[in-house]
Amino acid sequence: MRRTKIISTFGPSIADPKILQDVCEYADVIRINLAHGTWDENEKYNHKRNIQLIKETAKKLKKPVAILVDLKGNKIRIGDFKNHMIELEHASDINVIFTQEKKTNKHEIFIDADYCFPKIEIGDRILLDDGLIQLTVKSINQKNMALKCQVEKGGLLRSNKGFEVENKIIHRSGLGEEDKKDIKRLAELGIDWIALSFVNEASDVTQAREVLTQIGSRINLIAKIERLEALKQLFWIIKACDGVMVARGDLALESGPGELTGLQKDIIKQTVKGKRIAITATQMMESMISNPTPTRAEMTDVSNAVLDGTDAVMLSAETAIGNHPVETVKAMHEVCMGAETYQESITKNEEYKFSEINNIDEAIAISSMSIARNMEIKAIVALTESGSTALMLSRYRTNIPIYAFTRNEDTQRRVSLYRGVISYQYPFLVDSMADVIEDVRSELIGSSILKSGDLIVLTSGSPLRVSGGTNSLRLINI
Ligand code: PGA
Ligand code: MN
Repeated sequence: MRRTKIISTFGPSIADPKILQDVCEYADVIRINLAHGTWDENEKYNHKRNIQLIKETAKKLKKPVAILVDLKGNKIRIGDFKNHMIELEHASDINVIFTQEKKTNKHEIFIDADYCFPKIEIGDRILLDDGLIQLTVKSINQKNMALKCQVEKGGLLRSNKGFEVENKIIHRSGLGEEDKKDIKRLAELGIDWIALSFVNEASDVTQAREVLTQIGSRINLIAKIERLEALKQLFWIIKACDGVMVARGDLALESGPGELTGLQKDIIKQTVKGKRIAITATQMMESMISNPTPTRAEMTDVSNAVLDGTDAVMLSAETAIGNHPVETVKAMHEVCMGAETYQESITKNEEYKFSEINNIDEAIAISSMSIARNMEIKAIVALTESGSTALMLSRYRTNIPIYAFTRNEDTQRRVSLYRGVISYQYPFLVDSMADVIEDVRSELIGSSILKSGDLIVLTSGSPLRVSGGTNSLRLINI
């Protein structure tokens, strides 16, 4: 069993149903980034169609594949090029034009964000595509809203890549109207997680939560940590959200190359301690966009994220536009499995640390873990409505599998992001606990996960089928 979960980003490379199905054999979550693609239903591939396709694929595989959607946020992006890309030669000149037009046929860059034009000055360094391409502003034409720039770091620049100015905040803050509209659309389509881009403070998360509450949606929220600004309020952001993404692509632009690794470790640690989900994202297997095998550095990067305690590792361009999407998820799966065996050996003797207990759920989780670590417990089974007991259980480092038995499909999909948790759909058709235990027993023994006589911890609520009602823990020889 792999404990660390895999998120694969949707894109043209996996839009074919057969390929998507192969990817979903390994991926626990498929991510759609609204910064790319369209809602326009006249287009063959549009967000609604793609969401439906992922749902159909999950159904076919009988696997609770969750859907995570990133809102656009206030990231500033360049427009489109005629052939989707241009080549920028070192030391050559290029014009950057602020306009509402989206596409250019010439050798120039369009940007639809006139509000940031006044903030740009001569000598500023412009970072494109997470800093891969860099320009320096040579002169500014106020009338045409155009910047004449020199290419400092050249290369291939694709349409729609990010636009930043070094050491300057040029974006807008807060939840924009378009993001609000997208939240409502997504709630209607029934997805599982929404990721908020460029979160600066906790109120960015609560604003999104209010929109969801107003329309009665229980979609969970991920705060993407990609600005240093967010780190000042990290504790409150963690409290406000359901999960955090270490969005290394944009974060590294602000942190610089040396600090990124330490930040990743700190953010993951604080997030798990705060009882939320941590995702590690961006360029994890970047070379696999073109190569069929990962580099040694990539194997190590994914493994280190696993050892840092991340709940999930994420693939972005590798599966969205890469040449080897299936090989990539498979390679990531294998690396995670291997890294987890090392984790076991280093944590087996680690003293179990009691953290503070805030509610009954946490008391049950902490007690279960304490018992599981000190006895030969083969599995922890959580009978859960909302998945919250499974979440609490999964916040502790262990190699004991956690099985969440739930009758709710949305809970099943939500827990698919929780490290170490596997879900079972269980309809709870019987009323007595003895009958429930018999069902759990036959399910786990039937699927060869356990053998008769194995000792398990089972957490449940009395009465059954009540959300947030977990109040008991049993030790059972099944
Ligand atoms: P993005 O977010 O892919 O939407 O930019 C992730 C990151 O910045 O790392
Ligand atoms: Mn980003």
